[in-house]
Amino acid sequence: MRKLLRNFTLFLVVFLILAGFLSLINNPWQKQAELSFNNLVTAIQNNEIKKIGIEGNKLEATFQDNTQKFAHKENGESLANLLKIYGLAEDKLRAIAIENQEPSGWSAWLSSLGPFLLPLILFILFLWIMMRQLAGANSRAMMFGQSAAREENPTKPANGKKTTFKDVAGSVEAKQELEEVVEFLKEPQKFLKLGARIPKGVLLIGPPGTGKTLLAKAVSGEAGVPFFHMSGSEFVEMFVGVGASRVRDLFRRAKKSAPAIVFIDELDAVGRQRGAGLGGSHDEREQTLNQILVEMDGFETDTNIIIMAATNRPDVLDPALLRPGRFDRRVTIDLPDIREREAILLLHASNKPLSGVDVHKVAARTPGFSGADLFNLLNEAAILAARHNQTSISENDVLISIEKVMLGPERKSFILSDQEKRVTAYHEAGHAVVSHLIPEADPIHKISIIARGHAAGYTIKLPTEDKRLHNKAEFLADLAVLLAGQAIEKQVFKDITTGASSDLRKATTLARQLVTEFGMSDKLGPRTFGAKEELIFLGREISEHRDYGEKIAQAIDEEISAFLQDAHKRAQSLIRDNMAKIEKVVHVLLAQETIESDEFKKLMAEAS
Ligand code: ADP
Ligand code: MG
Ligand code: ZN
Repeated sequence: MRKLLRNFTLFLVVFLILAGFLSLINNPWQKQAELSFNNLVTAIQNNEIKKIGIEGNKLEATFQDNTQKFAHKENGESLANLLKIYGLAEDKLRAIAIENQEPSGWSAWLSSLGPFLLPLILFILFLWIMMRQLAGANSRAMMFGQSAAREENPTKPANGKKTTFKDVAGSVEAKQELEEVVEFLKEPQKFLKLGARIPKGVLLIGPPGTGKTLLAKAVSGEAGVPFFHMSGSEFVEMFVGVGASRVRDLFRRAKKSAPAIVFIDELDAVGRQRGAGLGGSHDEREQTLNQILVEMDGFETDTNIIIMAATNRPDVLDPALLRPGRFDRRVTIDLPDIREREAILLLHASNKPLSGVDVHKVAARTPGFSGADLFNLLNEAAILAARHNQTSISENDVLISIEKVMLGPERKSFILSDQEKRVTAYHEAGHAVVSHLIPEADPIHKISIIARGHAAGYTIKLPTEDKRLHNKAEFLADLAVLLAGQAIEKQVFKDITTGASSDLRKATTLARQLVTEFGMSDKLGPRTFGAKEELIFLGREISEHRDYGEKIAQAIDEEISAFLQDAHKRAQSLIRDNMAKIEKVVHVLLAQETIESDEFKKLMAEAS
């Protein structure tokens, strides 16, 4: 549609310029000079005129020297009468030849059209092109609506090789979780007989290039079912109604070939919060999203179709997508750590002639690289080697290419300096160890010093069960864990970095909630402060009204500070007493960048 509009404007501009140009040079058929009727009469009087041709009201005067000039006469009156009215003598009139060139209908029409002819032709041409474009777009739209989703049958894939879990290096946990999906697809009866509900939607969450698409394909390859692929971003530029009809068609075809996998890549492009955009331009996206929801709810529990989707922005997704019975299974895929990077490199190196490349060293030099980056890296190295007419890829080729990939347009994450790495390792170790030491805190799932988003590192805690209720002790534990990062930076480096700012923000928000929402402050007692207006269907807070006075406001602030101070002190003393454990974690983190839960537990047991 946008393209069409652009063409339209282009044509309009060209048309206007041409029209303007033509009007400047006046009537193109009238290149000869103009003569006023008065001057024409004078010229006839002076015997200068030989002949006058009449064509309607247009007069073509031929002089004795055969030059021609144009003149116009008034409407209605014949030339002879007019000349008489202008006082021309009868003999003078008879001396000139008057030729009535009364034009035939067609040429009269054309000549009256004269000044407009060229622009008119252009305009018609332009209309014609517009029509063709519209028709073309429509037929393209129709095509979209019907079957633009790519289907790959893993039994006979286009490249002749089916994708399996073997093609995905690392991502062990993700593969384990997806193994279950493969089982569902292969043997649904086994699960249905026991009354198990087969999952409908699996959401793959992870940064770009971490192999989400690859994993989805591998699931279909492992299960030997067809793979229907479409990308959310394809819907953004679509015509009204096309997105929805395409979704309908996709699911219809998938149902026909069930068991099957429908894969929606870049789900966030269509799955953004409804009503979040300004203006009406999001209608198409919302219709598409609604249709996806309708389809997901629509099919029976025994329809053997699993919908997989990928996103790197789960935070912007419409909550409706995450409700039970929709994408209620979530698989997170992180950037690979050093061991996973090594595995990915080895996998992609298997069809490339490497000579003397220390893959471990390359993995160590590429923190923050995704699987796609590593693939790209080996490719760049191969290109480099080929350009130097080598027969194999040397370590130097690979190392040189690291920078190229890093500085290339696709590199988004940043690489930490050694000092930053150390600070981050202590910071994350602080969170993890304090969390481990407080019984009410959630167990550690993963610690990492691989930069991600704006954070230099991260520690993922895993709530033991899906708890609906939390008690005060748990919240106090959370506060201490959040503040542990900053506390340890202070203790070890005698300085604090900006790395802790999001921890502080989270801690402050939590402390405020304890006081104002959960009534957990002993001083202020069991009441809430501030009335919230919520847009129920969005599940979002919209505004807050103050329903208390200045004095209470001050007391609230003091209580929030007290909660934070206590938590900080608690973290501080735990850190001071357990530096041995922390040093151990830091050491391992610096060596391998990430620590998984089991390894962490082992470290804690050893260090005590
Ligand atoms: P995403 O969908 O998460 O953006 P892709 O699945 O498109 O990532 O990955 C792009 C390419 O990167 C894959 O085709 C593959 O070559 C490579 N790749 C990414 N992750 C891995 C991995 N874990 N193992 C092997 N190759 C990977
Ligand atoms: Mg992808
Ligand atoms: Zn932190």
